[in-house]
Amino acid sequence: MRDPRYDTLFEPQTIGPLTAKNRFFQVPHCNGGGYRDPSAAAEMRGVKAQGGWGVIFTEQCEMHHSSEITPFIELRLWEDKDIPQLRKMSEKMKSHGALAGIQLAYSGINGPNLYSREVPLAPSAMPIRTFTNDPLQARALSKKDIKDLRRWFVNAAKRSQLAGFDLICLYGAHGFGIFQHFLSRATNQRNDEYGGSLENRSRFAREVIADMRDAVGDKMALTLRVSLDETIGELGFSNAEVRDFIEMNKDLPDLWDLAQGTWEDCSGPSRFKEEAAQQNLIRGIRELTDKPIVGVGRFTSPDVMVKQINSGLLDFIGCARPSIADPFLPKKIEEGRPEDIRECIGCNICITGDMTMSLSRCTQNPTFMEEWRKGWHPENMNSKGDSDNVLVVGSGPAGLEAAWALCRRGYNVAIAEARTVIGGRVERERKLPGLSAWGRVADYRQYQLSQRADVEIYLDSKLDAQDILDFGCENVCIATGAAWRADGVSRQHLVPMPISADATIYTPDHLMDGKIPGGKVIVYDDDHYYMGGVLAELLVKNGANVTLITPSAYVSDWTINTLEQAEIHARLVELGVEIVLNRGVTEIKKDQVQSNCIYTGRTHSYECDAVVVVASRLENNSLFSALESRQTEWADNGIKSVKIIGDAEAPGPIAWATYAGHRYARELDTADWGDELPFRREITALALD
Ligand code: ADP
Ligand code: SF4
Repeated sequence: MRDPRYDTLFEPQTIGPLTAKNRFFQVPHCNGGGYRDPSAAAEMRGVKAQGGWGVIFTEQCEMHHSSEITPFIELRLWEDKDIPQLRKMSEKMKSHGALAGIQLAYSGINGPNLYSREVPLAPSAMPIRTFTNDPLQARALSKKDIKDLRRWFVNAAKRSQLAGFDLICLYGAHGFGIFQHFLSRATNQRNDEYGGSLENRSRFAREVIADMRDAVGDKMALTLRVSLDETIGELGFSNAEVRDFIEMNKDLPDLWDLAQGTWEDCSGPSRFKEEAAQQNLIRGIRELTDKPIVGVGRFTSPDVMVKQINSGLLDFIGCARPSIADPFLPKKIEEGRPEDIRECIGCNICITGDMTMSLSRCTQNPTFMEEWRKGWHPENMNSKGDSDNVLVVGSGPAGLEAAWALCRRGYNVAIAEARTVIGGRVERERKLPGLSAWGRVADYRQYQLSQRADVEIYLDSKLDAQDILDFGCENVCIATGAAWRADGVSRQHLVPMPISADATIYTPDHLMDGKIPGGKVIVYDDDHYYMGGVLAELLVKNGANVTLITPSAYVSDWTINTLEQAEIHARLVELGVEIVLNRGVTEIKKDQVQSNCIYTGRTHSYECDAVVVVASRLENNSLFSALESRQTEWADNGIKSVKIIGDAEAPGPIAWATYAGHRYARELDTADWGDELPFRREITALALD
């Protein structure tokens, strides 16, 4: 059934004493659950095992209490008590023949130890480097500390074995793991046998791996994850040094796991990074070692994957985000249906779970991290309930996901869309600079729906309440989206702001409709996600002279959580956008805005030809309200239920809309949750004393 061109992806590969059944390698990735939600995390990995991955890793696991990254929620292996929850995970991973891997992390200068309160230890004494600039420093490891640390790694390796894992990945990538801190001249300024030459800086990795081999190496495979470039120039662990290191230590680990650079590089969003963006950094490394190599590159295309293998760049196809968006990616290639792959769009919403210490979500796969909590499976739906058909009004991400999940449950579905194209906001936003990959949200669902006989799509069909009553459907799902407000209401202004009647105001919707102002344009961003920055880019590309004013301390503030804020700022600077931070807009007049310092209130006027107000969105719920007001007519027209979902209910990111659509479909014809909690939850058991 599978295309023979992809056969190579299914060739078994040896890793030390083990054999992986194929080349699909789920590299470690966070999920926001970690030690707090162990069963949710375990079930998520188990679904990947069903999906055909050959190797499946945990997220980073803090291997000793003297180095932990609170407030981020990862795994912990500090004592034997931690073994059962990790065993649960390894068993799920191995349930369909995958190898189970654990990533052991000692975070050095990246671990502030806010929970354990231990003094952080690092190769050299220096400030803790975290997203939050915690005001504390690490002390340098003494020789005795290094001996202790080596022993702690051995203890963690033995516990990993007891927990049922096959592989151990030692974390030395993204600037986060102690192996990188030792390898880099920037973070290792020691003048003993662990510092100075590359030989000396490699010593710690060699010692730990030798110790662990003695302890568990006959049965477990050891992998080392390093970044291909520290990206801080020659002082850092540069790509040239990485090559020297690998050549010098050819056979050190059983597999080289090559991450890209910083986490921001390695998990680069599609707005800034193409698929396989690491190619140039990795080319030639294969010849320096006999050990297999895994690398990442947001791979979703089997053709690109095969190219990575056939051109000798990689032995394993490393995937984090593509395995989240579609845990069944390998299986779909194996079964000869790559067109069914739900491709990652590179939006990095999944990463925001880790960054906000909440369970991760995925825009494309609304079942991610709900496998255990809600029993949602990415490929299987619950069986149909009592009714038979649904009218979905609106074909944005909420409506499309609802329709796709409903027909898989066995309902007949009709979609009515006011426009002549489907996709809702995604269809519009995909045309903005850098966002074309987001169109996959609509493309995937449009293709899947086109394969179904039980779904009708009516374009150019703006429905009103009477149309819906006349339509004669048992269930009505209102997914009519939202519109950007022009009155400035958002965070700074809770009521409409003063805007003169003769001011020239645009909203993001105007720009997406092709009405793009020129001349001197002010973008007032009080939304703080991607839209303000993207529109500033669009305006410059259309010849405008742009000033972006935001009350936040950062451009596109919330994109710190998607790891792209720094790139956005840099891009706008390069495009010549004047960036004004920590200032709001108090009044818009003809040819002028009045701005205020959010700290002092001091005002300043900016001349302009037009203002683009990126504030909040107003839900399109009038159709729902009209139907509600005619509830007495529902029964006569065969209507059993009317529900509003997605942006029409409460605007949010696209991932919130696909989630809402999926939830609607799952819960149709099921009992109301009432006062019950609508998901399973794990709580820490109380200590006995
Ligand atoms: P969401 O993110 O919640 O899916 P979108 O704004 O992306 O919302 O999509 C909503 C879609 O609903 C848009 O394509 C819009 O054209 C469509 N729509 C809005 N009102 C109606 C209506 N009365 N009848 C049919 N389609 C509608
Ligand atoms: Fe890909 Fe976005 Fe899903 Fe993350 S949230 S896996 S980036 S589609």
